[in-house]
Parts: sequence; C-alpha cells; structure tokens
Amino acid sequence: MKILVLNAGSSSQKSCFYDVPDDRLPDQPPEPIWEAQIDWSRDKAELKVKAKGQELKESTAFESRLPVMEHMLSTLWSGATQVIADPSEIQGVGHRVVHGGQDYKDSVRITAEVKAAIDHLSDLAPAHNPVNLEGINAIEEILGDVPQVAVFDTAFHARIPDFAAVYPVPYEWSEKGMRRYGFHGTNHRYCAQKTAQILGKSLEDLKIITCHLGNGCSLAAIQDGRSVDTTMGFTPLDGLMMGNRSGSVDPSILLYMLREEGYTIDRLDHALNQDSGLMGVSGISNDMRLVTQAAQDNPRAKLALDIYIHRLRALIGSMVATLNGIDALVFTAGVGENAADIRSRACENFSYMGIKLDAEKNNSRPQDQLISAADSTVKVLVIHAQENWAIAQECWTTLKES
Ligand code: AMP
Repeated sequence: MKILVLNAGSSSQKSCFYDVPDDRLPDQPPEPIWEAQIDWSRDKAELKVKAKGQELKESTAFESRLPVMEHMLSTLWSGATQVIADPSEIQGVGHRVVHGGQDYKDSVRITAEVKAAIDHLSDLAPAHNPVNLEGINAIEEILGDVPQVAVFDTAFHARIPDFAAVYPVPYEWSEKGMRRYGFHGTNHRYCAQKTAQILGKSLEDLKIITCHLGNGCSLAAIQDGRSVDTTMGFTPLDGLMMGNRSGSVDPSILLYMLREEGYTIDRLDHALNQDSGLMGVSGISNDMRLVTQAAQDNPRAKLALDIYIHRLRALIGSMVATLNGIDALVFTAGVGENAADIRSRACENFSYMGIKLDAEKNNSRPQDQLISAADSTVKVLVIHAQENWAIAQECWTTLKES
C-alpha cells in the first residue's frame, strides 16, 4: 500500500511517502522513499524534497499554501525526485491531527463528520487543528477522493479512567470538556508496541512507562496496551518541565501575576509556553545540550537541570504508583534518546525498586534496545521516535480494517 503521511505544524509541514507491503507491516520501520518539508515561517515558502538520492531545494513567494503543497506533491510523480508514475498510485493519506477530543479513541477514516469534529475542536488546539484541517482539505483538492485517515495525538489517551482524567474543579468545568486529554499519543503507543516486540512479550502482559522527552515532554502509564494515565493534560502545558513550557505550576501564581503584576492573558500565555522551562530558568536555551554544557559553571543552568530531573523522577514515581509496579521504562524523543546522563540520573532514584542501568549500553548511543543491567528488576529501553512511520502504520491498519 502506498501511503503519504502529512505532519502539519503551524510553521512547517513535513511529509513522507512509504511503500508498505500489502500483506503485513514490517517489523523494522522502513525508510520513506520520498520526504519533503515546507517551512512557512519566512516571507517565502522554503521547500526541501529528498528522494532517490536527489535533493531539491526551492524557495517561492506564496499568498496561499495550496499551490505550494500542490507543487510539493507533484515532485512525487515528476522531476528528479519522482517515485510514482501517477498520483492515482497513492492509496492512502495519513494525517497527524493534534486534538480528537473525547470521542476519537482510535485513528479514523476521514469523512465530512470527522472534518467537522476536527474543526469544532480547534478551540482546544488553536495552533494545530486548523492547519491539520487545511492539510486534509488540500489533499481533497489535489488528489480527489483518495482515502484519508486522521491519527490523533490524543486518541491513545482517550480511555484514561475518569479518576485520572477529571480535574478536581467545579464539575461544570468538566462538563464543558476540561479534562486531561494528553498528547504525544502516537509516539507513546508506538513505543509501547516496540517495547513488546523487543521484549518478545504480549502488550497485554506488560506495564510500561514511556518517557517522551523532546522539546515537549510527557509520560504515559500503559497497561494492557492502553494509556491509563499521562502527564500532559487539558493542553500540552501540564506535567513535566519542558524546553520552553513550565509544566505544572501552582495555579495561584497565575492569579497573582494577573492581579498584582498587571499581566494580560496573552502575556501570561507567552510566559508559560515560551519563556519558561529550561529556557526560563537557565536564561540560556531551551536546548538540553546547551543547558547541560552551561551547567558546569552557570548556577541557573545547573538549577534548570536539577529541576528537570527532580520533576522527571517525581512524575515517573507517580506513574509507578498508578500502575502498581512496572515491567519496562522507556526513553524516547530528542532528550530521551540522546542524553545518557538524564536517563541515568532519572533512574538513580529507582534503585530502591531494583532498576539498574548497564552503564556501557546507556552510554553507547542506544537505539531500539535495552539499556538495563541483566539483573535489573525493570527493563529499561531507548526507542527511537518514528512519528511519521507510526502515522503510516495507523493509516495502513485503519484502511485495512475499513
Ligand atoms: P524533539 O522535540 O524530540 O525533536 O527533541 C528536541 C530536543 O532534544 C532538543 O531541543 C534538545 O534539547 C534535545 N536533544 C537533541 N539532541 C540531544 C543530545 N545529544 N543531548 C541532549 N539533548 C538533545
């Protein structure tokens, strides 16, 4: 099945094209046969396409995004990067959609009703759902009635029990939809599946904590292959300390800043989403590499790192309690995959329950492999986040079932 994946963000659009066998999904993630990226953040749209060892770079003025996307897609079937003879060879398009609310618990084939729901949920994800919808409409315009699938960031968490999802606020707020939705679900689900595969066990037999530590950070507690708790909440601002985002803070701080310091809502929003986290505390960067480097002689960078570790340990502990013990602890995404020191410091305080890392494996740039010592009570793994492949898999499965 030839599958196109569209991963649209507010300032960029990443696309991949996979040729997936029809009879079964491969065990190892295949390389996409074509990759493209459009950066919308400058005056001109910057397009990069990679396929068949060729690289195409173009920059074009744009008034609307549709013609640029149309041109990007045409590089699939024409020019030096051509990988198919005709657009009709595309059998499915998978879209990353950030918010699926409470109703979408799995990926779905896109219909007019699904589009209306994505639109309706834009209030909850204003930076993402509208651009996701724009991508869906663009594909309809350019490729006609090719089957499209929405893969929601929230879906994997949509079965979290109410006691973990409902906030202890006036109940009317919950009735308005204020609850823990959770995000990064596509990667949490993928990491759980990959863990089961690596350990040679059934997902139903495993209790897993997945630590998605990128610029955004979240944990998921996974039992029977389902997320039963997660640290991001109503929005991706809740939970762990992140690159630019604060994670959980006492809500009274917000009231104080509004009341006593004259902050506007927008300024508060910006402070918590952009000027907080590693960036806010260190004053140096949102990038873990730079903060770690600076921490050797800069007290604020060291403090930022110590808060990050403290909160990571605390929330891993909370997930362990939710699951009543775990079989596997997984690190994924930019920090989780690359920062051996963060992994070892996070695990250090769980030595009481028998978690033990193999220092050599932890330090050897592991990918899709175990890093725990042979006698560790819990398996610890590093899994490479493969968001586009995970979306292609979901698209394949959804279209096979429909
Ligand atoms: P992601 O959101 O998954 O792309 O992760 C991006 C973040 O990963 C960057 O902002 C860095 O903080 C972090 N990162 C990437 N490479 C490394 C590394 N070698 N060591 C520590 N952190 C890294």
